[in-house]
Parts: sequence; structure tokens; C-alpha cells
Amino acid sequence: MSGFISGKFKNLTPYTPGEQPKERKYIKLNTNESPYPPSYHAVLYAAEAAKNVMLYSDPRCSELRSALAARCGVGADNVICGNGSDDILNFAFSAFCDDKTPAVFADITYGFYPVFAEYNRVPYRIIPLKDDFSLDPADYYGCGGTVFIANPNAPTALALTVSQIEKIVEKNPGNVVVIDEAYVDFGAESAVPLTKKYKNLLVTMTFSKSRSLAGARLGFGIGDEALISDLNTVRYSTNPYNVNSVTQAAGIGSLEDGAYTEENCKKIIKTREYLITELNKLGFYTTDSKTNFVFAKHEKLGGEYIYNALKERGVLVRHFSLPRIKDYNRITVGDDGQAAALVAALAGIVKG
Ligand code: PMP
Repeated sequence: MSGFISGKFKNLTPYTPGEQPKERKYIKLNTNESPYPPSYHAVLYAAEAAKNVMLYSDPRCSELRSALAARCGVGADNVICGNGSDDILNFAFSAFCDDKTPAVFADITYGFYPVFAEYNRVPYRIIPLKDDFSLDPADYYGCGGTVFIANPNAPTALALTVSQIEKIVEKNPGNVVVIDEAYVDFGAESAVPLTKKYKNLLVTMTFSKSRSLAGARLGFGIGDEALISDLNTVRYSTNPYNVNSVTQAAGIGSLEDGAYTEENCKKIIKTREYLITELNKLGFYTTDSKTNFVFAKHEKLGGEYIYNALKERGVLVRHFSLPRIKDYNRITVGDDGQAAALVAALAGIVKG
């Protein structure tokens, strides 16, 4: 710390992103990226757009928002785009939380939520998940704050149904409910249709997982026009050019290739089922994953031990040292080859 840092950030503990090692080639199953390349039109349009980067990007993301609106069955004014869905989530903490309106979220969920709360200097209230990591919707009824729920949740991989989400939205009429659907394409139901019925529901999604564009940084939010307008107030007050032109073009191309995304999701779901079966045979307990990762705990070996043993064997997964989940690892599904390599490495570790 320099001594010049503002007092307001002296105690801020930043988010720790998953490792992106360069020193050695790992089988990289630690940050829930897609194992498949971006779609044909995503790459083609991005390359075309790169020729014009002497110009600023469209701050309204007009073409991309229209394409997203058409795909999601909403109007263009119900859509906001961001530099990853993290950007939109940060705007939501800024726009919808204050001293009287805390952020409310689970104890085991996306690790960025408490960081966004601290960064925006807003209070937050944590509601523990049940022993089996399920979320009881009733815990959030009339909770008096802005609700943030990852659905499916990370790192637990579990999903709520849309009717459970609807109940939470309905029972918090005076507060915004943000549903973070980063992983929704891998087997959960989206709450986007509910945004037409409820003015207090914001759904965030990303191109980072199912659409293979993690490095391009593209996310979006869907909600009532007034909510989107509030988010735009924050966006235009910080960085109106938050989505660069190459990324906007890649997003449009990706949406044109919707069938490719669906095919990749199906492949990932199939590999996930294989992975879960094999992990169970090796003595791992796994949660009922609706995501592109599995959350697994061995009956005898500790989570950190497994993380380190895998790393030594060239396989990178994500371990969190939080007490409730320290025995687990979060393992990205990957393609069939990566999954088979992971299973072989785990078999070696488990059999000692
Ligand atoms: N929500 C959840 C639950 C996530 O795991 C992630 C990925 N780290 C994000 C949001 C943000 O993803 P991105 O900014 O790449 O859209």
C-alpha cells in the first residue's frame, strides 16, 4: 500500500480471480471457461471490427442490445450490456444498495458479492445456506434489502426453480432482486420471462461460459426499463464505453450462431454426467450440478490435498478455504479429453 490510497479503500480485500498460470501448461479446469472455441461469426465479426478500433465503440451497444432483446423476447430498453456480467453486478450494488438498503446474499455463493458491497461501501447481510447447500427461498421473503442470488449457484452448482425465484421476487415488492444467471445455460431455468411481470427483478447473464467469450468480457442485464435506466446512470457516470467495439461485434456474431452454443452446452452436460459418474466411483460426493462445473468432496481425502495433488499432476481446479466448503473442489467440466485426464489423475491420487 502506498500511503496515498484513499482511506475508504485501505481495508478493502479485493476479489481473488482463479489462477491463469503461464509458467506451465495445465489442464485448466479452475475458472469455468468453455473448452470450445468461440463461434464462427463471433470470430469473423470481431476481426472485421478490429479494423475500426481508431473509433470509440457505440456507448449504447445498439445493435447488440437489439439482437439480445430479440433473443430474450424483451425490448431493447430492457437490456444493458457490460464488461462481463461482473460489470452489471457492480452497477447493481452501486445503484440499488445504500445504508438503509443492504445487499442480501448467501454465505456460500459468488465470492465477488461481498467485495462489490465493500467497494461500494454498502452494508450486507449474509443468509447461510442449509446444511446440504440448498437455499430456502423463505429465508429471503421480505428481507428488507437488495437480494443477490446466483442461479445456479457457484460454487455449489445447485439451482432453484423459476417458481421458487418468483416467490422471492413477489415477497420483496419494495426491493430489487438480482438473479445472476452466469451458468443458466447448462440445465437451469431462466427467470428472464418474469422480468415482464415484475418491476423489481433484474437478471444478469454472460457470454463468458456457454458462449466461449470469457476473454472478450461481455455480460448483460435484463429488467424493467426503469431499473435499466438506473444502471445506465451508474454506467454513464463511470465508463460509457464499457463494452469495446470488437467485443460488441463478437457478441452479435455469437448470437447469430445460437445453434453452436446449444450444441456446446449439450456436449458439456454430457461430459458432466460422465464426470459425475466417474467421480462417484472414486469415492467423491458431488452436488446435483446444473452448471459447467462439478462441486466434489472425497469421502477420505481433504479438498486442499486433492487440489495440490492435482496441480502436481498438471491439472488445475479451484479450491476455496472457507470452513464450510474446504473439503470440496470446484472442477470445470471441460471437454471429454480433459475430463478423462482429470479422472485418471484422481484415480492415481485416490488409490495412492
Ligand atoms: N456470476 C458468477 C456466479 C460467476 O461465477 C461469474 C464468473 N466468475 C460471474 C458472475 C462473472 O462472469 P463474467 O464477468 O465473466 O460475466
